[in-house]
Amino acid sequence: MGRDKFRIIENHPLSGLTTFDAGGLARYYTAVSSAANVRAALEFANIKGLPVFVLGGGSNLLVSDDGFPGLVIHNRMGGFEGSPDGEYVVVSAGAGEEWQVFVDRCVAAGWQGVECLAGIPGSVGASPVQNIGAYGQDVSDTIIRVSAVETGSGNTVLLDSIQCGFGYRRSIFNSGAYGKYIITGVDFRLKQNGRPDLRYRELEQRLGDGKDITLSKVRDMVMIIREAKGLLSVAGTESFRSGGSFFRNPVVEAKAFRDVEERVNRAGGCSEWAWPTDDGRVKISAACLIERAGFVRGYRSGSAGISPRHSLIIINYGGAAALEIAKFAARVQDKVLEEFGVFLAPEVRLVGFPDNMLGKV
Ligand SMILES: Cc1cc2nc3c(=O)[nH]c(=O)nc-3n(C[C@H](O)[C@H](O)[C@H](O)COP(=O)(O)OP(=O)(O)OC[C@H]3O[C@@H](n4cnc5c(N)ncnc54)[C@H](O)[C@@H]3O)c2cc1C
Repeated sequence: MGRDKFRIIENHPLSGLTTFDAGGLARYYTAVSSAANVRAALEFANIKGLPVFVLGGGSNLLVSDDGFPGLVIHNRMGGFEGSPDGEYVVVSAGAGEEWQVFVDRCVAAGWQGVECLAGIPGSVGASPVQNIGAYGQDVSDTIIRVSAVETGSGNTVLLDSIQCGFGYRRSIFNSGAYGKYIITGVDFRLKQNGRPDLRYRELEQRLGDGKDITLSKVRDMVMIIREAKGLLSVAGTESFRSGGSFFRNPVVEAKAFRDVEERVNRAGGCSEWAWPTDDGRVKISAACLIERAGFVRGYRSGSAGISPRHSLIIINYGGAAALEIAKFAARVQDKVLEEFGVFLAPEVRLVGFPDNMLGKV
């Protein structure tokens, strides 16, 4: 589809385009299906002096009730192609492809590397943004290249995985270069006829160590585990209106951890809640801190609250305003800081809120 299909809509509702199902209107909205459309959208925003926001599946953001005062560019770029490369295959996918459909196609083809990431909602184009990860796999393990349009110049650029600056739930796209690129496609290097590589204890335990474990068995087990934890956003399963984990797991210096440990133990303790990192620091379960701060599963304040299945997930119990959800998250954040001295940085991107709401993402 070319630039001729380019269309701008005014005052377009965003709530139905997000998994939180809350929030206001985009002052301007366009769905783009080609790099030419992206450039046309940027030109439009430039002429009108508008801020731009790129929307994928809307599963990692909370849009303010006042909406977004600029242009929302909804990425709908398709494409899926695999090219053999020795024992590997390079799979090029359009940024607007649905992540779950992408994973299922790779699993069906016997291409190993993303099967543990089944069930994560959203688009292929957003997968490098926060370096999605689950059950022992991070998408950065397989991404070799990202193609993007640079918002400032309109030029197409290719960024290799080093240039993407991947870290835990982090990349240049959600940190230093936030807003600088609109991702149009992602290239993955997956193993042909690959055997599953299990690195997550619960998965290993539930699948056993039999030789007949296939990629599709792993994918199916991941879906079962996710459903039990309320971590799916799929028709026909019990899903909750959320943005997934609301906060990142904090990483603290080993010295600071001793104090946190003492406070957590005094509050009742948690099991398996802290892990050493390669650089000598300690990663802490945000879910543990939230629970021990008093926000247990199912805790509810008005229409916002904690998921009945997972304490790191803040949900809209139905009809919540975005501000109600954000204020609830701020309450959780304040209480955890007060009780344990740890700042929980949001993983969910806030759109159209004041910059200081919940601190920096
Ligand atoms: C029930 C549930 C479970 C989840 N489980 C997990 C999990 O296990 N692991 C995990 O890592 N995440 C998880 N998430 C979070 C979310 O699914 C991922 O972050 C996902 O990659 C977001 O994709 P999206 O297309 O919906 O992005 P959106 O929510 O639309 O956007 C998220 C951010 O990415 C930016 N963005 C999107 N597309 C582009 C693009 N083409 N170019 C540039 N920037 C772009 C947006 O501007 C925004 O800043 C979960 C969410 C939910 C609701």
